[in-house]
Amino acid sequence: MDLTAESFLTYLAQTTDSPYLISIDRAEGLYLYSPDGKRYADLISGIGVTSVGHRHPHVIEAIRQQLDRHMHVMVYGEFIQSAPNLLARKLTSKLPAGLNCCYFVNSGTEANEGALKLAKRHTGRTEMVSFRKSYHGSTHGSMSVSGNEVKKQAFRPLLPDVAFINFNVEDDLQHITERTACVIVETIQGDAGVRVPSKRYMKLLRKRCDDTGAMLILDEIQCGMGRTGTLFAFEQFDIVPDILTVAKAFGGGLPIGCFVANRDVMRDFTHDPMLGHITTFGGNPVCCAAALATLEVIENERLLEKVEQKGKYFESLLTHRGIKEIRRIGLMFAIDFESADVVSRIVEEGKKLGVICYWFLSHPYSFRIAPPLTITNDEIKESAALILQAVENAYIRS
Ligand code: PMP
Repeated sequence: MDLTAESFLTYLAQTTDSPYLISIDRAEGLYLYSPDGKRYADLISGIGVTSVGHRHPHVIEAIRQQLDRHMHVMVYGEFIQSAPNLLARKLTSKLPAGLNCCYFVNSGTEANEGALKLAKRHTGRTEMVSFRKSYHGSTHGSMSVSGNEVKKQAFRPLLPDVAFINFNVEDDLQHITERTACVIVETIQGDAGVRVPSKRYMKLLRKRCDDTGAMLILDEIQCGMGRTGTLFAFEQFDIVPDILTVAKAFGGGLPIGCFVANRDVMRDFTHDPMLGHITTFGGNPVCCAAALATLEVIENERLLEKVEQKGKYFESLLTHRGIKEIRRIGLMFAIDFESADVVSRIVEEGKKLGVICYWFLSHPYSFRIAPPLTITNDEIKESAALILQAVENAYIRS
């Protein structure tokens, strides 16, 4: 075992000058544990991943069973394997009829890369429309359609022919035209600080795509898998995307992403060129087994039914003079304070008290709460008290 900060800081590439730096010995349900026995309530689910809690027994058992049969045997799309078969059947059974074909990849950004390529290939068009303040991933294609200009500047040139419009602004929809291959949008903007669009807007967006022949890609990498109270957030807006992307919580703690589309559209990857999208590890059977078990947990434990009630209860406990605004849908929260500085102090104080909250990429004066959907009312009560204590300490020490 090596839990030294020295190894971490010296031999692992760093992405920030102030990493969180807690040492993890093990994790269970809502909690992470350090080797010294200190317990942390993980209120961000490893950034939207462990929605059925850390190490859910049903997920672990499915992984074990798959390990006993086989791990990787072949690149994506050649051998018949049970885990991806079962997962694709299960996932599509929970989606509208048109979304009946899955392409499994390894992460969120890859799901979006595949979706963008599919839209370009299928429409024969080049323009992609995206949204200011959106986040779709950190590889070149997904970064090109992400809205945070500061993060992109150093990596130009990026993909050409990307247009940005404002989220939830009806007038901007006119920029979607017959030149547009696709519109990529988070159903709920996550890293912009939990922005929920109106139902009317989402329906107009769908209609504009229909009228112009642009494909609508809904990125539910952060807001999917029950986080908002329905398995997918788009169910609450009465629209259906042409392509849906998922990742994060999909794997129940293992890395897997997916883009889902209609079988006829997906067939475009088989010709002109053949192997239009390829991946070595996509559809990894261990990850697929974990994802299938995760869907089963959501179903068997009827988690969706309780998301809104838990979200409401949690929100009702969050009262403090420093809180400027709370935006919430289901168990996805953004809590605004007066400045980014206050938020980083709260995160620091939370760390001392044993509660993990975190900021947003494109919205630093807010922190996020996205606890596992399995969180109990007692855990909510205890967690909310810890958060309020962290907030109070941050104000006292300011
Ligand atoms: N889309 C959204 C909405 C996300 O929140 C994220 C991750 N924060 C991604 C895409 C990228 O996912 P990944 O980090 O797995 O590549």
